[in-house]
Amino acid sequence: MIQRAYNFSAGPAVLPATVLARVQQEMMALPGPRASILEISHRSPTFKEIIGAAEANIRKLMSVPENYSVLFLQGGGRLQFSMIPMNLLGEQQNRADYITTGSWGKQAATEAAKHGEIHIAWDGSEANYIQAPKDEQLDLSPDSGYVYYVSNETIEGVQFPREPAVKNSTLVCDASSDFMHKPIDVSRYGLVYACAQKNIGPAGVTVVIIRNDLLDRSSDKLPIYMNYKQHADAGSLMNTAPTFAIYVVRLVTDWLLNDLGGLEKMYSQNQAKAAMLYDVIDQSDGYYVGHAEKESRSLMNIAFHLPSDELTQKFLAAADEKNMTALAGHRSVGGIRASIYNAMPLEGVEALRDFMLEFRNA
Ligand SMILES: *Cc1c(COP(=O)(O)O)cnc(C)c1O
Repeated sequence: MIQRAYNFSAGPAVLPATVLARVQQEMMALPGPRASILEISHRSPTFKEIIGAAEANIRKLMSVPENYSVLFLQGGGRLQFSMIPMNLLGEQQNRADYITTGSWGKQAATEAAKHGEIHIAWDGSEANYIQAPKDEQLDLSPDSGYVYYVSNETIEGVQFPREPAVKNSTLVCDASSDFMHKPIDVSRYGLVYACAQKNIGPAGVTVVIIRNDLLDRSSDKLPIYMNYKQHADAGSLMNTAPTFAIYVVRLVTDWLLNDLGGLEKMYSQNQAKAAMLYDVIDQSDGYYVGHAEKESRSLMNIAFHLPSDELTQKFLAAADEKNMTALAGHRSVGGIRASIYNAMPLEGVEALRDFMLEFRNA
């Protein structure tokens, strides 16, 4: 057997080892159907139990109010860039505000502009996406259909410490890379979504939590797969669901509930893990330089630079030898990016911290 590395990939990303062991154990056959999850109908009682449990776990972990639907969709985070404006904008209300704090928000705004009038309420690009805005910096429209933001920009490692205040507009959030990393008040959101492969599962499924009154905005003229209302009415089983991905999301959410003990506990762990690495950065006399400003830096993606590209390459090679992988920053930012999602064990972060101290002093 190959030894598992500490995998700092930004996504698809680390999963809990106990979840992988369970997948392995059940891969040949599940108890009822005596076939694997890959081989059974999405309409079978066994799969209905699995998708039901995944939804119940999400509802419980996040205290999702009754008047919200939880949908399991395909097309990744990216399809939501289109589905959101296609469903939430229309003849009545054709304008949306976008707060752009990084690459994903920018791309979402570009896509949305194909479907409506998009107003950039705040643009972080001039400062190279290093911070989240304060509420008083937002230039919100008086009558937007929704206000869109990305709670955690995965590439730049910029995270909102709390939801932006959007007055009486509808808050829409891409939480792909920090979904369930802490408790949130879902009732503040009209819609919050996340592709699974960063923090809650494998690639192939996206969770969309939407307030039910917003489903009335979905026009019958939309392509059926693009229509939130159709998905909600079908209980996410309009067509063949991504069964394996949903099965793993169920196991990861079981792990969050039963092994971790919920999102408060997860949040304290995440704060402790991130602090370990930011402390090294802050106490390195400028050897390591964080990308984001302190108040906006991410608990999930720790993006930083070394003094030169040459040292960055050395760092990556030496880390790899110590069994720490996937630490290269995104090509648009460079440097190092350590993604330390929910499933990254404390020991992995400790190992990286020790390595960073040692590398600097070498
Ligand atoms: C990864 C990511 C996406 C894109 O997800 P895909 O599933 O690859 O389409 C969108 N938003 C954020 C914040 C992401 O981290």
